[in-house]
Amino acid sequence: MAWLVRNRATTVVIGAGIIGASIAYNLARRGAKNVVVVDESRAGSGSTAASLGGFRHQFSNELSVKLSIESIEVIEKFKEHTGFDPLVAHDGYLFLATSEKSFSQLKENRILQESLGVPVDLLTPQELLEHYPFYNFNGVLGGTFCARDGHASTSTIHQGFITKAKELGVELYEDAEVKKIERGGSRVKGVVTTKGEIHSEKAVIAAGAFSGRVGALASVEIPIKPYPRKVFFLTRNLPESIPSQIPLIVDVDSTLAVGRDGMMILFGDNTSTGPSFELSFPQDYEQKVISKLLRRVPSLSHSSISSSVAGLYEMTPDANPISSEIGEVDGLYCCAGFSGHGFMHSPAIGALMAELILDQKPHLDISSYHIKRFENKTQREQLVI
Ligand SMILES: Cc1cc2nc3c(=O)[nH]c(=O)nc-3n(C[C@H](O)[C@H](O)[C@H](O)COP(=O)(O)OP(=O)(O)OC[C@H]3O[C@@H](n4cnc5c(N)ncnc54)[C@H](O)[C@@H]3O)c2cc1C
Repeated sequence: MAWLVRNRATTVVIGAGIIGASIAYNLARRGAKNVVVVDESRAGSGSTAASLGGFRHQFSNELSVKLSIESIEVIEKFKEHTGFDPLVAHDGYLFLATSEKSFSQLKENRILQESLGVPVDLLTPQELLEHYPFYNFNGVLGGTFCARDGHASTSTIHQGFITKAKELGVELYEDAEVKKIERGGSRVKGVVTTKGEIHSEKAVIAAGAFSGRVGALASVEIPIKPYPRKVFFLTRNLPESIPSQIPLIVDVDSTLAVGRDGMMILFGDNTSTGPSFELSFPQDYEQKVISKLLRRVPSLSHSSISSSVAGLYEMTPDANPISSEIGEVDGLYCCAGFSGHGFMHSPAIGALMAELILDQKPHLDISSYHIKRFENKTQREQLVI
């Protein structure tokens, strides 16, 4: 086994998923030296490997909309700035409501989104049918559509962050599991990994769904739980009635999501059997999601599932991330728990976390993502896909 070359760092980032990679890149861009990233497995092999690369402005929380605005700009200009082309496609997100409660929420979200400069259309059932005649809108009260939403390649952006971070001096150690976070009283002293020890006065927990476990290594409680999620792909016998470019259509009430990526139709829902690190699903799970799909897109009845992808959602109690220092331990930070939207917010949150770690004032107020909010009642994000 190759041992660590560097056993001293200014900051150790624990986890080389899209979040850890963005933090490391942004630290290095701001001139930070001796930054080390460690991952117990291969970089990008966690939830990041399952991400579909969707990005959207449509959130119910002001900070999330602001993070989307900033992150999507970075994603759109990623090729220009890094040379890595994430194949950005603006096919939009369409949210549908079948209950009065959800419809009011969508309309309320739209007021917030437009107040922040994001154009969002409110569509009647009649307009929906005119735009998307292949979809059965029975019972749908209306929907919101943002043409600036879309998708891009998560693996390309991840690769871009990692490559650029390394060029700027960051060291990455894979297959290096953090076994302990060393504390000297209330200060971080370093981390013990399966490849050796690193002394560091700062450590960032960016371990996605595993962040609760990693927090326990420093005797701190991080309320992030793993929820298995699966997305299915159809490639054969696709009806011509479905255009080659459609938005990701999300039924807020049934949680069914249907979209298209090139030659594939993708679909899934966010029903869950509860927290688990195992990527296993009940036997009837697939059939239940297919039934939901066929109710809305009956012309897909001659298609069959050709593949699927499964991964862990990293859920916090209010479906918003934790991006802050951990008050009880000086020098210890957490940036995780993106609850299924970590890819799209990785550019902005990486920059904001880098500022925080370098003792600069974050350019956006991220205090509402502080871990200490869970001491009180919190406001849940309403649009979790
Ligand atoms: C099916 C699916 C579809 C998704 N689609 C989208 C989408 O369209 N858009 C979007 O924005 N988001 C999407 N997401 C969510 C997105 O993938 C995650 O929010 C994001 O990848 C989280 O990144 P992360 O870096 O926090 O976690 P991860 O990618 O899980 O990285 C954490 C890393 O920490 C490492 N680690 C864990 N424990 C230790 C330890 N003790 N020592 C060292 N390393 C450790 C792991 O090996 C892992 O590599 C999707 C998720 C799933 C499951």
